[in-house]
Amino acid sequence: MHDLIVVGAGLAGLALAARAQQEGQEVAVIEARSRIGGRSLAHRTESGCYDLGPAWIWPSMQPRVARAAAAFGLRLHRQADDGGFVFQDTDGAVQRLPHGFAQEPPSMRIEGGTTALAEGFAARLAPGTIRLGTRVEHLVLAADAVSVAAGETRLRARRVALALPPRLAAAIGFEPALPASALRQLEAVPTWMAGHAKALAIYDTPVWRASGLSGGAFSRCGPLGEIHDASLPGAASEAALFGFFAWPAAMRAARRATLEDAVRAQLAALFGPAAGSPRALLIQDWSADDLTATPADAPPLAGHPPYAPLALPAPWHGRVLLSGSESAPEFGGYLEGALAAAEAAAAMNAQHGGGLPAAGAAVGR
Ligand SMILES: Cc1cc2nc3c(=O)[nH]c(=O)nc-3n(C[C@H](O)[C@H](O)[C@H](O)COP(=O)(O)OP(=O)(O)OC[C@H]3O[C@@H](n4cnc5c(N)ncnc54)[C@H](O)[C@@H]3O)c2cc1C
Repeated sequence: MHDLIVVGAGLAGLALAARAQQEGQEVAVIEARSRIGGRSLAHRTESGCYDLGPAWIWPSMQPRVARAAAAFGLRLHRQADDGGFVFQDTDGAVQRLPHGFAQEPPSMRIEGGTTALAEGFAARLAPGTIRLGTRVEHLVLAADAVSVAAGETRLRARRVALALPPRLAAAIGFEPALPASALRQLEAVPTWMAGHAKALAIYDTPVWRASGLSGGAFSRCGPLGEIHDASLPGAASEAALFGFFAWPAAMRAARRATLEDAVRAQLAALFGPAAGSPRALLIQDWSADDLTATPADAPPLAGHPPYAPLALPAPWHGRVLLSGSESAPEFGGYLEGALAAAEAAAAMNAQHGGGLPAAGAAVGR
């Protein structure tokens, strides 16, 4: 029997598992994907790693990611924004402004991508701690243990931490069942950025810089709504742009067959004809990834949701913790929130196994 089973090998789950194991607990991490990192996803080329999920951190405001990056020896670099900025109106008209929009505080990128944070925590775990390709389907509560069922796999632990979005926690079977009100409250918590998609265009050279442009653009017509330079520092024979789609998930799905052509045409309109012919074009649509998003995540959010700690009602209270970024005490939804949630869950778990009340407003009361 384990002391702790962590479900989800994203940043939150790996940080929690590393801490609990360091404190001497028997820990297993169960991950549905064939890789770690969750929403952190790298596209690797010979020149390095590009982020298809989260790319930015703000170390001046976010102490946990700053500490983790320093502990893992990761180099940070400022989001490039030197040069002119492009604005595209609703009718497609393009305006080139001589100056950029400096981000304040500056967004920083991690050399090696944000997956390097997850990899840093994973490297601290004893070999064999993480089981990949194992999707947890069912939790059964007994007096002394929580049983975790994932396909043919059955594991038992004194406590389980669901280090994943609340909407995905609600999709797991609970025996005894969670009250309907608790399920509704979990399902009501949006997963940050889950409805979004990112495009990455890779070039031989930064064609936009030849015309004095930074690679930054805002568009009111799409398909991309916000574009930035994604080039890797020091990469001599490669440059890149990334963009967030402005078109919502339903529109992207309806236009899937022509989406790449639409992106190429937009890049050419914004940055000149050469930008319309990238060496490679990748689209990562998180709304179509059922280990991140549910159909409820498809409609665009009006703003950043007011995330707060969550706890399950009795008899699950204190036996199954919610410890993904969307349950964080602060910075919920962000990478910093993933580490804050892990820290809070580790503190609860460290007290001792089983039965302790967990902090956070219990859902379904
Ligand atoms: C496009 C995009 C851009 C973003 N940009 C930024 C940014 O610039 N800066 C920032 O700070 N944040 C950003 N974010 C948010 C950031 O990605 C998240 O805050 C962070 O990755 C959450 O980590 P997590 O470990 O809580 O969850 P996740 O990374 O979602 O990890 C949860 C894990 O649980 C697994 N899982 C789910 N269900 C099961 C199951 N039943 N059984 C087993 N495993 C399961 C999943 O496969 C996944 O690996 C962005 C997100 C996206 C999608």
